[in-house]
Amino acid sequence: MEYASIINFLEKIGKIANLDEAELELLKTPQHIHQAELEVSGKKYPAFRVQHNNARGPFKGGIRFHPEVNLDEVKALAFWMSLKTATADIPLGGGKGGITVNPKELSKEEIEELSRAYVKAFYKVIGPQVDIPAPDVYTTPEIMAWIRDEYEKLVGEKAPGVITGKPIEAGGSLVRDIATALGGVYVLEEAMKKIGLSEKTVAVQGFGNAGMNAAKLLAERGFNVVAVSDSKGGILNNNGLNIGELIKTKSETGSVVNYSDAEKISNAELLELDVAVLVPSALANVITAENAGNVKAKVVVELANGPTTSGADEILHSNNVLVLPDILANAGGVTVSYFEWLQNNEDYYWDAETVKTKLKEKMISAFEQIWQKYSGSEHDFRTNTYVLAVKKILDAERARGRL
Ligand code: GLU
Repeated sequence: MEYASIINFLEKIGKIANLDEAELELLKTPQHIHQAELEVSGKKYPAFRVQHNNARGPFKGGIRFHPEVNLDEVKALAFWMSLKTATADIPLGGGKGGITVNPKELSKEEIEELSRAYVKAFYKVIGPQVDIPAPDVYTTPEIMAWIRDEYEKLVGEKAPGVITGKPIEAGGSLVRDIATALGGVYVLEEAMKKIGLSEKTVAVQGFGNAGMNAAKLLAERGFNVVAVSDSKGGILNNNGLNIGELIKTKSETGSVVNYSDAEKISNAELLELDVAVLVPSALANVITAENAGNVKAKVVVELANGPTTSGADEILHSNNVLVLPDILANAGGVTVSYFEWLQNNEDYYWDAETVKTKLKEKMISAFEQIWQKYSGSEHDFRTNTYVLAVKKILDAERARGRL
């Protein structure tokens, strides 16, 4: 994702929401950009922390370890986090971090050293009431625990709320591991009630954390998951897949394509299947102006970030396909991060049922706010989601007297 596309996007939203120049400028400009060069085993790695907006609360967003991380992308992702926390209606702002590194080329010890070096570079600008990082692409709960440990060493006090997505034994929250998928499922069920959709066939693209848990949760709730895929390809059985068996196949053989009781299909074919619900949970830009006209699903749940291009959006909208956009559909992750932070700050830990109940309340109320704005509006559900998020940020800026 490029920052230039954020600028284009903001211009479009600005027209719909009647934003003035000062408001647009504020949204386009991250509040702080922090950069460093980290050294591990004689090699140098560029590292970033971008703090986009904190009008609604401390900056919040993951740290990505990936060879393609660059400042432009981190800026764009920090902006999306401001929108996501506003959409989820949690009292946090938006930020993002990253290190340009291929973690697969490093030993575990080197990854730990790199993670600790990141904290040494940025500990003065993060903190439980300032900026709270979390996992993102290729960063794990274990890394979060190292980051907490290093931060506490440097500031000389206990501070579990400096980072979320930690393992349970290091101050993590129950349910955080399935939170992205579960949040998406809650929103989907609510949306189906609104549009009166009772057909429960599903295709899930991607079988990582989000896709696998979505397939599992949906099957448990009586949906008929007929197709799934991963990077090696997809499988289809119109009578339904046995998700338990499928998870076993994936962990034993590395791919869902080795599941025996199904026919093989491509990732592209999966998107065009005759199902009620489509759940893109892997890559960006998979539903495009070229294939959007062939999407037969009535609802698309974006568990991946940015799976639908803007050209595709218009086609889906005119074909009456309801797209539940990423900043709502996958906001369950950051919402349970917020719960983790609350539990850390109070030093009081909730049971799994409590976390699930509170997540459900949050997701449904976020969905309901947008639905009310969307019904009767000439714009699609995504546009309404973005306009509402941007307005919440600007209202908070105004209330503080910064605008
Ligand atoms: N990286 C995740 C996201 O993009 C989680 C962020 C968080 O939990 O703070 O939503």
